[in-house]
Amino acid sequence: MRWAGWSVVIAAERIPAGLRAAAATHGGATYAVDVTDETLAPATRAVALGRQTRSPGAGVNAPLELSSTYIADGPVNYARAGNPTWTAFEEALGSLEGGEALVFASGMAAVSAALSLLPPGGVVVVPHHSYNGTTSLLDELAESGAAVVRRVDPTDHAAVRAALAGAAVLWVESPTNPMLEVSDIAALAAMAREAGATTVCDNTFATPLVQRPLEDGVDVVLHSVTKYLAGHSDVILGALVTPPTQAGRATRERLSRHRLLHGAIAGPFETWLALRGVRTMHLRVERATANATELAARLETHPGVLRVRYPGFGAIVTIEVPGGADGAEQVAASVRLWMHATSLGGVESQLERRRRHASEPATVPESLLRLSVGIEDVEDLWRDLDQALRER
Ligand SMILES: *Cc1c(COP(=O)(O)O)cnc(C)c1O
Repeated sequence: MRWAGWSVVIAAERIPAGLRAAAATHGGATYAVDVTDETLAPATRAVALGRQTRSPGAGVNAPLELSSTYIADGPVNYARAGNPTWTAFEEALGSLEGGEALVFASGMAAVSAALSLLPPGGVVVVPHHSYNGTTSLLDELAESGAAVVRRVDPTDHAAVRAALAGAAVLWVESPTNPMLEVSDIAALAAMAREAGATTVCDNTFATPLVQRPLEDGVDVVLHSVTKYLAGHSDVILGALVTPPTQAGRATRERLSRHRLLHGAIAGPFETWLALRGVRTMHLRVERATANATELAARLETHPGVLRVRYPGFGAIVTIEVPGGADGAEQVAASVRLWMHATSLGGVESQLERRRRHASEPATVPESLLRLSVGIEDVEDLWRDLDQALRER
């Protein structure tokens, strides 16, 4: 059994019954797909991949290649088409997801490229709750007539099936942001395939350490690398990963061409930093998840908390507090160690009231605080949260 630690980290009883087997598989023994070495565990590949060829005097890290162009007649002419630092990062992420990766300038650049798979006026089926930027972009596409957007509850399979009639793309995000709803990704991907739609799965929250959507039949995996992959709140970057199949390679070619021609390319330094982050992702995610599991359990019985949402894996927890928007804002203003900031997935713990963003849907409660649990000492995190929740 490989990666045994994850079966401890994932609290199986919190996962809906239908998803338990899938989560156990992701967290358990089935890391068989590896583009370079099928015998290595994810933790090992995260450390080992994307390095230089071993030769006397070679650096141990990938080069930070800052050239805009290359001497003629090589494999790549110009750096908008390719960069050795990208290749190193893509090798590592591709292996972790069980596919082939493309790095983009941001998560949103990756979202835009993925949505380019939609034909003009095509139908895209999306969860009610998904990343704010994705929702806003889809609103704009719908307004201009570039897309028809059908919003569904991804746990209502009959509704998803109905919405998929004539659809070109199914968008999956699991857990959703910020409501933390968990989808049965394999079931959704199967329905989309039946309907002839391409499935895109935003895997930012779960990371490839917890779930590998390509194994569930998803066509394109999306990451805001900004979050857990890079992990230090110092980089904005995105990525798309496609399966190593003929169909997957055809999709990858379209996405790669989109990157080349629309030009939302990753900076080499950001990419280098992100690969540096990937080296420790398993340690960071493991610690942050352990902290989140502990804090979610304690918050359940805290007198200053009305409701806790935690899917049982990952390091995002949401709480609702008394006093509506003002109550939540007071908590955000009262923390001293936690940071009041938007974003997530960094080593430092952050929280924010999501509805302070006008674009957040009204179905997100006014008093909902999203907690991105970091890797600090859990007792220090608890003491600070506890005093902020009692302050009011
Ligand atoms: C942050 C985020 C994005 C967008 O990524 P950027 O790197 O900020 O452009 C997309 N999806 C999810 C789930 C995110 O959290």
